[in-house]
Amino acid sequence: MKIGVLALQGAFIEHRKMLSLLNTESFEIRQKKDIEIPFDGLILPGGESTVIGKLLRELGLFEPLREKILGGFPVFGTCAGLLLLAKTIENDSRSHFAAMDITAKRNAYGRQLGSFYAEAPFGETKTIPMTFIRAPYISKAEKTVTVLSEVEGKIVAARQNRMLVTSFHPELNENQTVHQYFLNMIKQ
Ligand code: GLN
Repeated sequence: MKIGVLALQGAFIEHRKMLSLLNTESFEIRQKKDIEIPFDGLILPGGESTVIGKLLRELGLFEPLREKILGGFPVFGTCAGLLLLAKTIENDSRSHFAAMDITAKRNAYGRQLGSFYAEAPFGETKTIPMTFIRAPYISKAEKTVTVLSEVEGKIVAARQNRMLVTSFHPELNENQTVHQYFLNMIKQ
C-alpha cells in the first residue's frame, strides 16, 4: 500500500512518520506529476486551508485531486484537510473540494487561545489523545456521515464512505488508532 501525503504546507512530515511506524509506504505530493503514479490513499494535512487551497489551484492539483476524491478515492483530512473536504465552511465564503456532507466552522475555538489537548473516544476505541490547533469543528453533518468522535458536544471526527476527517492532529501524538483506521478503510 502506498499513501500520497499532500506536502504544500503544514504538518505533512508527521503524517509520513506515523505511516512509517505502521510499515506503510508514503510519498509527498508537491506537483501534478507526483500523482501520475498509482497510489492507494491520500492524506490532506493540517496547515492553513486558505493557503493550501490557493496552492492546490495554482499548481494544477485541484481538479485532478477533486475528481479522484469525488470518484471515491480514500482520503483522510486533518484540521485544514477537514476544511478542504467540507461541502460548506460556515464562516468562510470559500469551499474547496466540497466532497463531504458536512458544515465546518473554521477557527471554531478562537484564533489565539484555540490550541488545547483532550481525550475522547474514537469510533469503537475507548479514548485517544487529541491535539487541537486553531481547529475547526463540524457544526452540521448530514445523515450520510458517521460521527466517530465528539468533544464537548462538538463533532471532531467523522467518516463518509471512504473519506475520513478529524479536527484534531492524530499525527502529533504517538497513538496510531486514527491512521490505522484509515489504512483499514482503504483495505475494505
Ligand atoms: N485554522 C486553520 C485553517 O483555517 C486550520 C488549523 C490547522 O490545520 N491546524 O485552515
